[in-house]
Amino acid sequence: MTNLIDLTFHELEALIVSLGEPPYRARQVWQWLWQKGCRDIGQMTDVSKALRARLAEVAEIGWPDVLRVRESADGTVKFLLGLSDGEAVECVLIPEKDHFTACLSTQVGCAMGCGFCATGMLGFRRNMTPGEMLGQVLVARQYLLDAGEPLALRNLVFMGMGEPLLNYDNLVKTLEALHHPQGLDFSGRRITVSTAGVRRNLLELGRMGLCSLAVSLHAPTQEMRARIMPGAAKLPLPELMGLLREYPLKPRERLTFEYLLLDGVNDSDADARDLVRLLSTVKAKVNLIVYNATPGLPFRQPDAGRVAAFQEILKAKGLTATIRKSKGADIAAACGQLRAEAECAGRGDA
Ligand code: SAH
Ligand code: SF4
Repeated sequence: MTNLIDLTFHELEALIVSLGEPPYRARQVWQWLWQKGCRDIGQMTDVSKALRARLAEVAEIGWPDVLRVRESADGTVKFLLGLSDGEAVECVLIPEKDHFTACLSTQVGCAMGCGFCATGMLGFRRNMTPGEMLGQVLVARQYLLDAGEPLALRNLVFMGMGEPLLNYDNLVKTLEALHHPQGLDFSGRRITVSTAGVRRNLLELGRMGLCSLAVSLHAPTQEMRARIMPGAAKLPLPELMGLLREYPLKPRERLTFEYLLLDGVNDSDADARDLVRLLSTVKAKVNLIVYNATPGLPFRQPDAGRVAAFQEILKAKGLTATIRKSKGADIAAACGQLRAEAECAGRGDA
């Protein structure tokens, strides 16, 4: 059975034509899938009964199963989503001032092996399909609707489990579906893809112009990066920076560099000064992330004073630096933490 939400618009058109219908019918079906969040082909009431019946013989609409939902005191909502083969991924809804942002996963697990990351500990299991990535958006949007939440889902960040650039073809299909004007209609300004920094597909993604880019830097030197991000450090820092200098930016657009502050590891004044030097050759802004401690991993969160001092050094040198407040810390909201917890519970050793 084909899952209709796995199809690009053109693939849906081809399917409709193969059933003996004119291609324009695809637009109606697409609107049902993406604008109306339809989960049952039988309910596509302005599609002819004959087409609905033929479509239902070969296809279905399969959203991820919501296995767990956890709401944080600060309004963050975390979903553990079950996929058709029994795997599970995470998706997080983050409340902002006047909207919600959804944080999406791209792979089950991750091969990059960052030492501070719960998903990295899991290792790589498999790539997610476009329908599985998009299914997170459908589930999150539906959750807000059902909750009568007045604020809408406005921004998407690919900062959940997995390395987006290592699932590139499916990522691009996903981004294209998100952009579709008869569908979810997200503009590129509202979508950010985060990468730990791999050579493959980095510049291609920029040329597509479908999203903004965030780079998980986390260390100002190759030596330190190799220690905490062994997979990502295979692309040496000078080469990564060289690629980023070539990255196509729109006027006034800047690259976002994420810098995870780990107590006593990468959060000294000297590290801040090295970071300023490193970023002096690119159009950059910095997002400082306070580490969300993960059980079983040997990293801690720096205290608020250290975080503020680090930020001050960047700002004093003219670098825009914001602190991303750790949201949902009470619900294991950092990348990969809920799935890790659920697995422990499953094994009975939580
Ligand atoms: N693989 C991509 C995208 C997913 S990870 C990447 O690494 O960019 C998204 C972000 O969450 C990364 O910046 C990552 O370093 C950060 N992250 C991972 N574990 C974290 C934790 N325990 N606390 C805070 N941020 C974490
Ligand atoms: Fe993978 Fe990103 Fe986690 Fe590193 S931080 S292991 S790249 S998901």
